[in-house]
Amino acid sequence: MSLFSYAPAPESRSVVDIAPSYGLFIDGSFVPASSSGGVFKTVNPASEEVLAEVAAAGVEDVDLAVAAARRAFEPWSALPGAERAKYLFRIARIIQERSRELAVLESLDNGKPIKESRDVDLPLVAAHFFYYAGWADKLPYAGFGADPRPLGVAAQVIPWNFPLLMLAWKIAPALAAGNTVVLKPAETTPLSALFFADVCQQAGLPRGVVNIITGAGETGRALVEHPDVNKVAFTGSTEVGRQIARSVAGTRKRLTLELGGKAANIVFDDAPIDQAVEGIVNGIFFNQGHVCCAGSRLLVQESAYDTVLESLKRRMATLRVGDPLDKNTDIGAINSAAQLSRIRELSEIGASEGADRWSPPCELPAQGYWFAPTIFTGVTQAHRIAREEIFGPVLSVLTFRTPDEAVEKANNTPYGLSAGVWTEKGSLILAMADKLRAGVVWANTFNKFDPTSPFGGYKESGYGREGGRHGLEAYLA
Ligand code: NDP
Repeated sequence: MSLFSYAPAPESRSVVDIAPSYGLFIDGSFVPASSSGGVFKTVNPASEEVLAEVAAAGVEDVDLAVAAARRAFEPWSALPGAERAKYLFRIARIIQERSRELAVLESLDNGKPIKESRDVDLPLVAAHFFYYAGWADKLPYAGFGADPRPLGVAAQVIPWNFPLLMLAWKIAPALAAGNTVVLKPAETTPLSALFFADVCQQAGLPRGVVNIITGAGETGRALVEHPDVNKVAFTGSTEVGRQIARSVAGTRKRLTLELGGKAANIVFDDAPIDQAVEGIVNGIFFNQGHVCCAGSRLLVQESAYDTVLESLKRRMATLRVGDPLDKNTDIGAINSAAQLSRIRELSEIGASEGADRWSPPCELPAQGYWFAPTIFTGVTQAHRIAREEIFGPVLSVLTFRTPDEAVEKANNTPYGLSAGVWTEKGSLILAMADKLRAGVVWANTFNKFDPTSPFGGYKESGYGREGGRHGLEAYLA
């Protein structure tokens, strides 16, 4: 029994106004969907309460949005970079000013803990707009030739795990480089993108430069397959990424894909164990494990296994699962019923394949979608939970003896997005980073993001980089 318990510390949900219904943001105004579209509801995954009714864009609406972006392209790309920068700086400042509203909205629609949306997502969103605003008038010095040109209309499709942050990763570099965009947020998390449309209006952004069309996968498909799109940027599952790559093949469209991952978090026996355990917990339980670069495979050196596991279990027992709006919550709600059933299914497969399942005692709320933080030990490389992306708060633990074995196991995956190394030896960190086939390798830390730093994968994790100077390349000819 714990010696004390936390008093509830709920953030007020009344700081944000949610309208009963939303239209599509096309050509600078909110409009209802055409007869080819429809409506759908978005729910709070922590309570299953309907938050709003949202327009679903049909093919005619996609046409209208792409046409609006096309009309806006010439004047927008002809603006001096310093003028485009002013809009981006303005957007960044408005996001900072309205960050409390946005953080609450993001937690309500997505289920992530308010301390994450408030302290991680929103500051990073603003930082991305500030960072790319700074590039807008320096493109000739970015290393892409003396006169790099924008591509045109960018079709951008994003997932539900970091709705506003993924929007920022996509929209900020596209606009800085002089492109116009049509963006589709995920069906389960449309609200912060629609709020962003309001921010664009507030910033006086010329109409048509940013268009937000909501809807399901069919809307995304119609958008990326639209013939008047010059660039497709997608973040989501490898399966949908493959479909998009097929549909774009043979066209002149440029494509970047940021897909799944199955990152290895590698702990050597000389690592500072308490710090490593914090990194393991952050690596897999941050954002309920709905993170493409989550450290979902823990590789522990055999000699440190008992110590790490004991410490990890003790730490997991202190994690607080529950109301995303409570400032003390560590693990919020699973984003959707569909994702919850996928996590359940893969966890049951893990147990049936012979791995040992463990979760700390924790009471889950009766209403909403919840999954207790879980670890599997005795996992082998052949187990499905060691190979497939679970995208939930589930960690598979494996062991190794030598650095070579750790590299071999870490790279034994179809993915290659990220990895973590924990050791006090700098030389070992550098040697491992050289051999790990992952776009990002963190050393003695995990899940650190910065707009100046490129992010992206190898193999089935996709291609192209977002963030940093590299992120501009995807939007310049
Ligand atoms: P999807 O890849 O289906 O969704 C990503 C985005 O693509 C959403 O906006 C989705 O719309 C849209 N979309 C779906 N089908 C198409 C299509 N044919 N053409 C264009 N756009 C499309 O991911 P899911 O939400 O289905 O999640 C499934 C699994 O994918 C997760 O369990 C996880 O393993 C992985 N995933 C990985 C992510 C990452 O960051 N790497 C992010 C999200 C998921 P809609 O939401 O309306 O379906």
